[in-house]
Formats: sequence, structure tokens, C-alpha cells
Amino acid sequence: MQTHPVAVITGASSGIGAALARRLGRKEFRLVLAARRADALEAVGADIHGDTLPVVADVTRRADVARLRDEALGAFGTVDVWVNNAGRGINASVLDLTDEQLDEMMAVNVKSALYGMQAIVPYFKERGHGHLINVSSFLSRVPLATYRSAYNAAKAALNALTANLRMDLRRQYPEVHVSLVMPGMVTTEFAKNALGGTPAVTWTSPGGGSGPQIQTADDVAAAIESLIKSPREEIYTQRGQPDTVIRYFQDVGAFERGLP
Ligand code: NDP
Repeated sequence: MQTHPVAVITGASSGIGAALARRLGRKEFRLVLAARRADALEAVGADIHGDTLPVVADVTRRADVARLRDEALGAFGTVDVWVNNAGRGINASVLDLTDEQLDEMMAVNVKSALYGMQAIVPYFKERGHGHLINVSSFLSRVPLATYRSAYNAAKAALNALTANLRMDLRRQYPEVHVSLVMPGMVTTEFAKNALGGTPAVTWTSPGGGSGPQIQTADDVAAAIESLIKSPREEIYTQRGQPDTVIRYFQDVGAFERGLP
């Protein structure tokens, strides 16, 4: 009998999603890899020895996400882990935001994950177990890169949806896990792919110190791999981030006055 678990990863054609696919592939997961670029998905799949199914999908379309679930279940008969990782940043201050930019941020960072949750969680409930993981951002908790404006707001909305879903499930479905991942700055194509790119001065360092630590996609993938092994409600991927968030919420004014 085939016992290797099945993981679906959106945004698997590059960055964190691709790194996670490579890691889980080494742990003998069977993988369903979703993104819009077929060639990039094939390239990631070619690095992985085990079973992989590339699915070309635009996660801002509900029908594509439903098809992703159907193709995963059709190919492997089960889904154990679903990672809503696809996302996109922006470079626009709050006062410059257009309706179109706000809609794009909500579509790619919030609706995409909502479609994923609504596609797979009913299946997890039916069989009594499963792990849903939403990839958010540290910037959803602290305003340290204000040029990401609507991206930060969209990820904050994602945090709320994630926590509310978890609370809805916790009593009746204790083995259906719902987790939130908040990376800091990660060396991927994210900065280049952001709508409007990324400004040269990029991050306000809390306390005015030497700037943020920067992680690789594989560092974040390692944190998600450990989360899959031991499900938790929320994780930050860098040491120090929880303390920064606590300082921020304890006294927003003092925190902001302490910024350069
Ligand atoms: P990348 O830009 O390298 O990867 C983004 C992935 O999302 C790509 O695989 C892209 O594939 C996919 N994607 C984007 N839009 C869509 C869409 N409409 N439909 C399907 N797939 C889509 O960035 P990262 O790997 O860094 O980002 C992954 C996640 O991590 C995102 O949610 C991001 O917000 C989050 N994050 C990143 C940080 C960073 O500093 N890099 C920090 C904190 C959080 P394709 O173009 O082929 O569709």
C-alpha cells in the first residue's frame, strides 16, 4: 500500500514553494505543484525523484483552485497537506494606491488562499485529518516596509481568515490543523516580481539596528517542513520576530517613535 503523504503547494514554480517542494520530495512526499508557468513547474519537478504532478493554475481563479484539488485527488487519491504559498508584493504607498492595485493584492494574497481553504478543508473535515498552511508575512504584523501597503494589508486579512477558520474547526476537528507562516525577508524573485518592483531603500529596522536578517528560500522551507512534522498555530521563520511583534503591540507609539 502506498503510504507516502501527499502535499499540494501553490506558487511552487519558484522561491519558497520550489524550495519546499525539493525538501518534501527528499522526504518522499508525493507532490502536486501549482503555478502559472508550466516550464518553471516542470523544471522544479525534474529536480525531484518521487512522484510529482505539475498543475498549471492561476490561483486568483476559483475554478482553477477547485481543479487543482480535483487533479490532486484524481492522481493520488488523497491530500494530506495543502500549502497556500502563492503571493505577490507591491511597491506603492497607501496614498498612491489605485483600486486595481488593491484588487490585485487581495486577489493574489487573500482570495487565492480562501479558494484553497474552501477547496480542501471540506475534504479534510470529511476524513477527519489534514494540514492547511497559509504563507503570510512578518509585514502583516509590523509596519516596517510601508511601500508594501496593500500587500501588508492583504496578508493581515489572510492572518484573520486563518485564525477564524482554525477556531471554527478546533473543537469538532482537532486533527484538522490550520497554520500560519510568517517569513521575514527572503532571497527569492519576490522583490523583482512585486507589482511596481521594490525601492532601493527597502526595510525599516526596528530599533535602528543593522537591518533585517535575510533568509534563503530553503531556510523558510525548512521551517515549513518542521511545521508539517509538528503542527502549530503560527510560526515566524526568524528568531527575534516574535519579540519585535510583542514590542509593537505592547506600545505602538513607542515602537514607531523608536524607528529611524
Ligand atoms: P516568488 O515571487 O519567488 O514566488 C511566487 C510564486 O507564486 C511563484 O511560484 C509564482 O508562480 C506564484 N504565483 C504568483 N501569482 C500566482 C497566481 N496568480 N497563480 C498561481 N501562482 C502564482 O516569491 P516567494 O517565493 O518569496 O513568495 C512565496 C510566498 O512567500 C508569498 O506568499 C510571499 O508573499 C511570501 N513571503 C515572501 C517573502 C520574501 O521576502 N520573499 C517574505 C514574506 C512572505 P508563477 O509566476 O509561475 O505563477
